[in-house]
Amino acid sequence: MTPLEYYEKIKEDYDKISPSMCVLKWEHLEMHLGSAQSHSCFHVPMKHINEDEDFHNTEQKKEVRNQMLDGVRPSECSYCWKAEDAGSWSPRITLAPIHTLKDKDIIVKTASLPRNADVYPKYLVMSFNTKCQLKCSYCGTQSSSSWYEEIKNDGPWDVISDESSRGYNLNGRETLYTGDDNAMTKKFWEWIKQAVMHLHTIRLTGGEPLLSENTFKLAKFIRNHPNGENIEFNVNSNLCVSDRRVERIIDTMKDMKKPKVYASIDSWGPQAEYIRHGLKVDMFERNLEKLVDAKIDVGIMSTFNFMSIPNYKELLDVILDYKGLSWIKGDATFFLDTPHMVYPKHLSALITDDKQLDNLRELVYYMNTHVDDNDVTKFNSGEYAKFERVLQWVEKNRFTGDELIKHRKDFRAFVDEHDKRRGTNFIETFPELEYFYEMCNG
Ligand code: SF4
Repeated sequence: MTPLEYYEKIKEDYDKISPSMCVLKWEHLEMHLGSAQSHSCFHVPMKHINEDEDFHNTEQKKEVRNQMLDGVRPSECSYCWKAEDAGSWSPRITLAPIHTLKDKDIIVKTASLPRNADVYPKYLVMSFNTKCQLKCSYCGTQSSSSWYEEIKNDGPWDVISDESSRGYNLNGRETLYTGDDNAMTKKFWEWIKQAVMHLHTIRLTGGEPLLSENTFKLAKFIRNHPNGENIEFNVNSNLCVSDRRVERIIDTMKDMKKPKVYASIDSWGPQAEYIRHGLKVDMFERNLEKLVDAKIDVGIMSTFNFMSIPNYKELLDVILDYKGLSWIKGDATFFLDTPHMVYPKHLSALITDDKQLDNLRELVYYMNTHVDDNDVTKFNSGEYAKFERVLQWVEKNRFTGDELIKHRKDFRAFVDEHDKRRGTNFIETFPELEYFYEMCNG
């Protein structure tokens, strides 16, 4: 069955329950202990975690689960409904294989649970803290300690309109739970004693998880637990850490079940380094090679944003090269995922003009010419469907009128402030967008 046929099958199974069913609401949990926040997937706005509340089975989440069973579209899942209304495959379908490939009956089993049942997640994405050496454009103070330090020392980016100011101001969450042994972390180490019996995957994120000692402590806990052999251990990383840390994680993961590293990059070369400030592409690539050499599965996580467009073809070519290399090494997979960046709006691809939209269409076309489900050195139809979704989303939802003017002004203000604070030069780095920058003057 091709990835697309598999998506059709998931949709059929969902529709037998309801048109708004999503197993992630039960089986998936993403939580960030440092800022005390969680959500069921990264497309849903985060909620505060209370110390005296269950990590996963909150009253609010139970209500949303019931809406899904009743065929109501929960408003917090608007990312999916917008994708579906644009005729695309939404994440409730494209992320479901994480669960359905482990248990083909999971959709029916989940829907048959008693209403309001307490469940443990099967897939856990989590961060212990926000320690990170990068300041990616679309990140902010509550996910990156470097962003936090910059704003604490140099003040907020007050050139950005109110609507877009999240991340450019301190919000009080950044220092809620710090250090390796805070109350939220203690709550986690108690919770994981039971949760470990139910998990099939743990995925560490950050900040940069390879900078946290707790990442290695958790890997050791999983390795030594009787159920550990059933749990896949995955790590997100910006791959801009020392050789020593990369070698340590390879050493830690290599005997665990299906180790996988999700490496984040949204373009290639100097443009990628501008988007993710602090990224060094040569270091990223050196570490990528180490992972491929060690036969660790690698997923490239591309948060597709407006600045990705000009040089994304180079990234697609790099990925094709690495797919080939992984195949030569044998046994490991190398794949691309392309969630589109929704926030902050002034960096999203929705600010595009016709020229860059045409460039995006060409990128999608280019990828389409390299799709073959029977050749692991090419993109598969699932990877293509996700990238095509970006285009469909942009075509359907492009900003217009006053909203467009506002977000483009914010884009220019962001670039000016970025260049001033960080010593970068947008026009030199993105000569293809000089005309666009000038156009954003209001
Ligand atoms: S946003 Fe989509 S994938 Fe995420 S929980 Fe909601 S329906 Fe599921």
